[in-house]
Amino acid sequence: MQPTRRVVIQAAALGALALAVPFFTQPAFAQSKGTVGVAMPTKSSARWIADGDNIVKVLKSRGYTTDLQYAEDDVPNQLSQIENMITKGAKVLVVAAIDGTTLSDVLGQAARNGIKVIAYDRLIRNTPNVDYYATFDNFQVGVLQAQSLETGLKLKEGKGPFNIELFGGSPDDNNAYFFYNGAMSVLQPYIDSGKLVVGSRQVGMDKVSTLRWDGATAQARMDNLLSAYYSNKRVDAVLSPYDGLSTGIISSLKGVGYGSGDQPMPVISGQDAEIAAVKAIVAGDQYSSIFKDTRDLAKVTVDMVDALLSNQPVQVNDTKTYNNGVKVVPAYLLKPVIVDKANWQALLIDSGYYTKQQVQ
Ligand code: BGC
Repeated sequence: MQPTRRVVIQAAALGALALAVPFFTQPAFAQSKGTVGVAMPTKSSARWIADGDNIVKVLKSRGYTTDLQYAEDDVPNQLSQIENMITKGAKVLVVAAIDGTTLSDVLGQAARNGIKVIAYDRLIRNTPNVDYYATFDNFQVGVLQAQSLETGLKLKEGKGPFNIELFGGSPDDNNAYFFYNGAMSVLQPYIDSGKLVVGSRQVGMDKVSTLRWDGATAQARMDNLLSAYYSNKRVDAVLSPYDGLSTGIISSLKGVGYGSGDQPMPVISGQDAEIAAVKAIVAGDQYSSIFKDTRDLAKVTVDMVDALLSNQPVQVNDTKTYNNGVKVVPAYLLKPVIVDKANWQALLIDSGYYTKQQVQ
């Protein structure tokens, strides 16, 4: 059947358009520089959603195709997502591990396929097949968390003694030890001098860690601590390494009456400046958090991708700290910042990280 005249004209017009379009919209038709696989741990925390969004945005703006996956804190799920990225021909893998010790096999497979690997925020352990590490200064995160407790309790002014409880992050996340050790570098001298008293005597990551950074687990542990050790005294401070745990800890404390006039909230730290935590800081329930600008982390990571794929030197600023059990992984460390009632507006709103409406 002959095409009708109208169809022929339309086809011709489309052909002309197709020829003309590349001259006008070059970027949209530009060839991709290749696919970058981005494996994120979970969507249950706003922090990782922001990380995923930011890194995809920067990768796309630099001409890459992206394959972003979240594994909902399920290790086998993350492994199969990474295997898929390898099979589909990713050129670089950017991985925020759920359990940093479980990726050796799959990353062996990546290496055999010539795929470069960047550990994103969390160190990947027990493998030679991790090329670079983009993160924040994790020891310093812990130092800042503890310094904010020090400020909140006025320890430097000689106040005390105070009762404190300690919470650690997930024992399968290398960062958790850095946060804890950083915090203890500030708190231990006060514990030694008796200005801080750990009412439960639960000290050390083997006693205070919180598997998978789970807020409900932290809440249950705080419930137990309060009923076992604080029936006739108050807890004055809680070292919490992450906003999601702080939320659980705050619920537990509210459950037994903290946060009301004659029983003020303890001084509680956090991390990630998640919106719920910023609201809690404004409300006076949480004392502080740590702001880690995921826009900067995305940029540093994509700079690494660019350099790796164009055989240029990769910019790092730490070649000593992060031994993954097989080698020291060269790293770029960004600076974390304390956020509290005094500076949240300037840090988070004026910088455009959140809108004022989001935290109201
Ligand atoms: C990250 C923290 C985060 C925690 C829980 C850590 O590896 O560095 O920013 O609070 O995981 O998601």
